[in-house]
Amino acid sequence: MERLIFDEDHEAFRDVVKEFVKRYGDNAARERWDAAGEIDRDTMRAAGEAGIIGLSVPEEFGGAGMLQDYRFRTVVNEEIIRAGLGSLAGAFGIQDDLAVPYIVHFGTEEQKKKWLPGMASGEIIGALAMTEPGAGSDLRGVTTTAKKVDGGYVLNGAKTFISSGKTADVIVTFVKTGEGNRPDAFSLVLVEDGMQGFEHGNKLNKLGFHGHDTAELSFADVFIPEENLIGGEEGHGFIQLMRNLPLERLSIGVAAAAASEAAYEWTVDHAKARESFGQPIIRFQNTYFKLADMETTVDALWAYVDRAIALYGEGKLTPEEAAKVKFWATEREWEVLDQGVQLFGGYGYMMEYPITRAFADARVHRIYGGTNEIMREIVGRKIIKG
Ligand SMILES: Cc1cc2nc3c(=O)[nH]c(=O)nc-3n(C[C@H](O)[C@H](O)[C@H](O)COP(=O)(O)OP(=O)(O)OC[C@H]3O[C@@H](n4cnc5c(N)ncnc54)[C@H](O)[C@@H]3O)c2cc1C
Repeated sequence: MERLIFDEDHEAFRDVVKEFVKRYGDNAARERWDAAGEIDRDTMRAAGEAGIIGLSVPEEFGGAGMLQDYRFRTVVNEEIIRAGLGSLAGAFGIQDDLAVPYIVHFGTEEQKKKWLPGMASGEIIGALAMTEPGAGSDLRGVTTTAKKVDGGYVLNGAKTFISSGKTADVIVTFVKTGEGNRPDAFSLVLVEDGMQGFEHGNKLNKLGFHGHDTAELSFADVFIPEENLIGGEEGHGFIQLMRNLPLERLSIGVAAAAASEAAYEWTVDHAKARESFGQPIIRFQNTYFKLADMETTVDALWAYVDRAIALYGEGKLTPEEAAKVKFWATEREWEVLDQGVQLFGGYGYMMEYPITRAFADARVHRIYGGTNEIMREIVGRKIIKG
């Protein structure tokens, strides 16, 4: 089904992304990232140079100034995921959708000047650390504390499952600066690579996204200067998270739709090429019926996700709407990818095939960014309130 959200600027930008993929995203590069468990810095810098990361950084700081217009980010996701490079899409997403927005929306002028130009150019890798070993869904249960001292804070605690956590130079970190668990007991601070007492743990061994690092972080008496408190005022961390989480959830919805579309295309190609009982498997009614289902689901996904992108652009995407998009899109993605894997037969179980890797990557879409159960909580609470 024709999509209506793009104009010629987006299509011209699509060519730039395709060119980048051709140059930097071949199979050898992907295998290198998967083996290393991370995207190398040269690739991040090349992406900065090509202008396909840093889209959310304001122009005055060297970016594209597109934080509120998610259409260009959607093009990046589509083309990179279609090329079978889920890990690269993940690394770009953490930079543009999770780390940068906190600094753009809430950072002081000094924080913006210090971090944003490097994040736009790919020189500086950012991450967002909320989850802890003892607190994921229940973020008010975090126990990493930042105690006020002369000139700053002393940080103690640990975070886990942090995307880009091994490679990050700067980490937007959710901490407790007050007593109890009221919203104003929390703040966001910028933890910098190299700070004394701060360790990036080992890369975690995951089911999918093998080329993108996920790590534990530990903080033992890490001194954080006052100027690294996001926004310069204590007690706003929870509200800041609530403001930015809809974008994170929209971005997962977009990635889910992009992966579904790519999986559908890979499956059509395979079904035309693969023969069984003397004919291409696409000739079996079961196959083309399943493909018809997949194509229709992809159409519906984009119709819904594109609407959410448009609402986000108008500043109208509510937390509840973003939660709905996240859980619904990732569940349709799971169905489409599972169906695609089935039509690939045994090849669908082999990691050398993009559909297999995308299937493994997709599993976490229902878990991170807030689990799909928590998304239903958000929607359900609004229904109860009326
Ligand atoms: C690959 C990967 C990358 C990640 N990247 C990041 C990152 O960059 N930054 C970051 O901060 N975090 C990140 N996370 C963490 C992720 O957001 C959390 O894992 C997720 O929010 C769930 O938290 P948890 O693992 O503690 O599960 P739990 O909160 O322990 O949940 C376990 C189960 O209980 C259910 N549950 C919990 N509470 C309720 C409830 N009230 N009602 C119904 N069911 C409930 C959950 O839905 C889930 O099914 C990442 C995780 C992974 C796996």
